[in-house]
Amino acid sequence: MSMYDNLNSMQQEAVFHTEGPVLILAGAGSGKTRVLTHRACYLIEEKGVNPWHIMAITFTNKAAGEMRERIDSLVGFGSESIWVSTFHSTCVRILRRYIDRLGYDTNFTIYDADDQKILMKDICKRLQIDTKIYKEKSFLGVISSAKDELISPEDFTLRAAGDFAKERQAAVYREYQAALRKNNALDFDDLLVKTVELLSNDAEVLDYYQERFRYIMVDEYQDTNTAQFYLIKLLADKYRNLCVVGDDDQSIYKFRGANIKNILNFEEIYPDAKVIKLEQNYRSTQNILNAANSVIANNVGRKAKALWTDHGEGEKIDFQQFETAYEEADYIAADIRKKVKESGCHFGDCAILYRTNAQSRLFEEKFVVSDIPYKIVGGINFYARKEIKDLLAYLKTIDNGRDDLAVRRIINVPKRGIGATTLGRVQAYAQEQGLSFYQALRGADEISTIGKAGVKIRPFVNFIQTMRSKVEYLGVAKLLQEIIEETGYVSELEAEGTDEAQARIENIDELLSKAVAYEESEETPTLSGFLEMVALVADVDSLQEGSDYVVLMTLHSAKGLEFPNVYLAGMEDGMFPGYMTIISDDPLEMEEERRLCYVGITRAMTQLTITCAKQRMIRGETQYNKVSRFVKEIPGNLLGGMVRTQKKQKDEQESSAQSFRQATSKVKPIFSTRNIYQSRQSNSFASSSTDKIALDYSSGDRVKHMKFGEGTVLQIVEGGRDYEVTVAFDRVGTKKMFASFAKLKKV
Ligand code: ATP
Ligand code: MG
Repeated sequence: MSMYDNLNSMQQEAVFHTEGPVLILAGAGSGKTRVLTHRACYLIEEKGVNPWHIMAITFTNKAAGEMRERIDSLVGFGSESIWVSTFHSTCVRILRRYIDRLGYDTNFTIYDADDQKILMKDICKRLQIDTKIYKEKSFLGVISSAKDELISPEDFTLRAAGDFAKERQAAVYREYQAALRKNNALDFDDLLVKTVELLSNDAEVLDYYQERFRYIMVDEYQDTNTAQFYLIKLLADKYRNLCVVGDDDQSIYKFRGANIKNILNFEEIYPDAKVIKLEQNYRSTQNILNAANSVIANNVGRKAKALWTDHGEGEKIDFQQFETAYEEADYIAADIRKKVKESGCHFGDCAILYRTNAQSRLFEEKFVVSDIPYKIVGGINFYARKEIKDLLAYLKTIDNGRDDLAVRRIINVPKRGIGATTLGRVQAYAQEQGLSFYQALRGADEISTIGKAGVKIRPFVNFIQTMRSKVEYLGVAKLLQEIIEETGYVSELEAEGTDEAQARIENIDELLSKAVAYEESEETPTLSGFLEMVALVADVDSLQEGSDYVVLMTLHSAKGLEFPNVYLAGMEDGMFPGYMTIISDDPLEMEEERRLCYVGITRAMTQLTITCAKQRMIRGETQYNKVSRFVKEIPGNLLGGMVRTQKKQKDEQESSAQSFRQATSKVKPIFSTRNIYQSRQSNSFASSSTDKIALDYSSGDRVKHMKFGEGTVLQIVEGGRDYEVTVAFDRVGTKKMFASFAKLKKV
């Protein structure tokens, strides 16, 4: 029996059709990803294709890692030469080799969201833009969307002519791009843009990669944006052996520029494309599948698909509505414990999926107290933490002194007593002379305007120069160790002695471990290589195979993954679909949310639990939410566990006031262990409501809320630390909230 006998006939057809364009458009769990891995194998073993000529692209590092593993286990010899990678890593690899042809250095830095924000702040200051009115974030959003569509600053400027607001954006875009270039840095979107630019302008490089990638496969094609589409098109243009797989019902990245037309119009661009549909689902039970099918059936304008399974009906979907989000977390924790104890289920078989990262906090607190091992994917990214960013900035400065942001970040970390005026003068000098900030620091003696302050700069420069000379023989981990010792970074934290400082030290240890692991895994480890890896680690990478813990993540991160036991939490109108989607009244946005729901449901293999709470606290406001409309789209006969809920619903009126008090009394977060100290930073409740605010409105007054609009104040109750204000809003109904958070304005 060959491995291809483990495929159904349609899957086999897709695997065996190796020449020319192929489109596999099929629903969740139908084996699309499985087809791709088997296809790679078939190409090598049956068609004699050199693995070197095969490329497989996916969206997340996690998916790429999984694909790599699956291919490795199928293909014996030579599988390591197959190019299995994400779009972004692919671009980095190409650019590290050839970006000098676009006038950049090949050791460019990759800016993350934080770096971008700092840079944008600078630019707005320089252009004298009032960021209270025009937010940095919105400029970054505009630029990112432009880049997704391959619109250059020049094109943008041309299109903006005559429109004052757009002209301002164009000016910012031009400055931003120039600053990146000066810093020899690319942002995430640039990785794609610059690769497309390179391949479009340089026939030699294009030919090299077209020759190399004779067989190209793309997973999750429904989420490609215009830049990604062109990248694939350019690469595939010569041999045209392009196989894309996807599911239009799982397109969930429109907000990042994904263009669903790429998959829907595939046959127009490649008229000779072989189109294959897969209809058997191998992942889920019939009940789960029916639920998914009935939800997605509410989207109009989709390609009809009929998914079936022979896995049998399976258990009903456990649906539970709770009074509060605390009870919801209690239930899920208890349910996981029970399953692990009674039915041989592992923690690692369970995943909790939610709409927004903030929802993880209650589960995290509950799991810490109940001693359930868990891992949060996403949220506060490890690499976005202050201590990690500081140390990485040292590494970046040592590796590439052209990254001004990195240099400025650490010039006074630890404190070196270099004042803002001095730094401003160094900056001005750098600009005047066309130098990088670091180059200017190196030549500080030449800067007449800074006078004696130059003395304070010298030790910093000397330190960086010494470290540079040691990079080669120390290696990444030892270099990092030396930076930590020489700067006294950890000893300062130790002296602080707080739990938070201790947690930071643990994070630094974690970074050191990562550096060691990197050096062990790479054949030729380099400092640039390490920084490159770090820049590309998407959130989902923190998931490790084989460890036994419950996984918590957003629905977006869960794409392509599967778990025996899935909990969809916070299934309430206002949470999911989100409040903004509901008030936008835009059917297309609602359809995107519904697709996300379909993605969520179809992650479950054997048991799906759907939970919601009547009230939950969001940034200090109690929200009263109804059961999500998506849950109502699931036929009642598929749902179990509702009886209890219906009985409770009868008492809704009476109990809501009482449970509000319960909820607020529980609000004080539990910070019993330090590994959740991060939550403390994101939970502003503890710190900002200690001083009671003065109110300039009273019962009966008309007030305005930033999000909810205008309403009438019904009641103000004085609580221990804050006022509880009840407002009947014109548009969204009655809400109870804390005065210090609600920031109501009398109208
Ligand atoms: P998604 O749309 O969620 O990405 P997919 O279409 O890529 O799903 P896969 O992840 O490839 O689906 O497959 C889903 C599950 O079904 C996997 O566990 C896979 O191993 C299994 N599977 C797929 N095809 C078969 C088959 N012919 N026989 C047995 N199991 C299969
Ligand atoms: Mg898949």
